[in-house]
Amino acid sequence: MGLMLLLGGNVQAQDEVINKIIQEETENSQLKQIGHELMDVIGPRLVGSPQMEKAHDWAVEKYASWGIEARNEQWGEWRGWERGITHIDMVAPWTKSLAGQQLAWSPASPQDGAQGEVIVLPDLSDSVAFTKWLPSVKGKYVMISAPQVTGRPDYNWEEWATEASFAKMKADRDASNTTWNERLQKTGKGRRELPIALEEAGALGVITSYWSQGFGANKIFSAYTKKVPTVDLSLEDYGLLFRLAESGQKPMINLNAQSKENGMVPTFNTIAEIKGTEKPDEYVMLSAHFDSWDGGTGATDNGTGTIMMMEVMRVLKEVYPNPKRTILVGHWGSEEQGLNGSRAFVEDHPEMMPKIQALFNQDNGTGRIANISGQGFINSYEYLGRWMANVPQEITKDIQTSFPGNPGGGGSDYASFVAAGVPAFSLSSLSWSYFNYTWHTNLDTYDKIIFDDVQNNVIMAAIMVYMASEEDEMVSREVRVPIGRDGQPTEWPAMRPPTRKGGVD
Ligand SMILES: [Zn+2]
Repeated sequence: MGLMLLLGGNVQAQDEVINKIIQEETENSQLKQIGHELMDVIGPRLVGSPQMEKAHDWAVEKYASWGIEARNEQWGEWRGWERGITHIDMVAPWTKSLAGQQLAWSPASPQDGAQGEVIVLPDLSDSVAFTKWLPSVKGKYVMISAPQVTGRPDYNWEEWATEASFAKMKADRDASNTTWNERLQKTGKGRRELPIALEEAGALGVITSYWSQGFGANKIFSAYTKKVPTVDLSLEDYGLLFRLAESGQKPMINLNAQSKENGMVPTFNTIAEIKGTEKPDEYVMLSAHFDSWDGGTGATDNGTGTIMMMEVMRVLKEVYPNPKRTILVGHWGSEEQGLNGSRAFVEDHPEMMPKIQALFNQDNGTGRIANISGQGFINSYEYLGRWMANVPQEITKDIQTSFPGNPGGGGSDYASFVAAGVPAFSLSSLSWSYFNYTWHTNLDTYDKIIFDDVQNNVIMAAIMVYMASEEDEMVSREVRVPIGRDGQPTEWPAMRPPTRKGGVD
């Protein structure tokens, strides 16, 4: 009887904290405020950029303002670069300001820009012909991306086209991509080498367009040029210049792209913690990468994961200030270049790995959590299921789970911990057109955040962390033999070292 009463008492106490978590996040969410500060005031968080460093300092200050201890841990250094303006104007055959921007780490143009004709990489017979043609690029801009057959996404065709014309478009597109790839191959230069060969030969700049197959969306990655700018143009403006050049109109642009090289700069993880009272050297961990690409402001990759984890910490500090185990959060640097910050943390803190009860990572957009895999931990069904049972049904009812699942070998930072044997899970969210519209694109901005969904995710993660912290013992870390893509048994993913000196060849 006494035991029953004790159990009853515990359940009562748990409900109390859970109710307070829900109430605090529902009535007093800070997501919009911190989202604005991070995405709009600080901006994109490219590794090595001044904004990235500013973001780390901002996070430490923000945590301090909530009474949470936080620190920046340096784990490496990176080529420092600061994005400046990009102004691209077509000046002939008529005048139009073009939509585009320089790629990350692009060299600058001359101070007020440089004017020149735009040409298309011609279809040359082989690398000998390419070498012979190369001097003609002097003083010109060279377009090296495939032209698009259509500026409409497939879903738009599906809605409006006849079946026959949709099929024809797709066949045309396949053919066009194939011939363009052949054209590139015949130069004898690789993807990274071609831009360098062009600048060595005196080109004023390289023009690319990486359409993301959604209206207005382009992916913005790194430049390979070392002396002249590389810019990405919108599908529409790239197509315009391409057709004008192909029809012999000799389009001219003035391109002014400014940027600053800042030498090698330190790169960090931000770690915050709420100290455990009963088991301070055991941990429950939150995880989300802090860096982004810089075509937009990294709102859904991974601003939403970031503000979600910060908000979970704020709420827990408010309603559960004396956790049984230490609650940690890792805001990782340089995930985008290969999970570098989290790999460094795993490598630098080996003594902590066996003491992490569970880790929850979020990094695939702004949507409600929709999928959870047990990552190959045999007993994950038991404890994750039990913890999830305490999350309100309206939050968990559509979540698909797979237990025990297979260990993830990459994709985001949980994989760095799974490789080290830590029960680390990905809280995988609904798409909201992530891959076409926001992932690494110019459109990944504050307005794409679905705050109601992020708020649900905060409540769920806060309850899961609370449950993991209160758990009597450390949960089982027993793993299965993973099954590979070919359906055959395979090895557990290996730990991989981070790049500690990045952006240099
Ligand atoms: Zn990401």
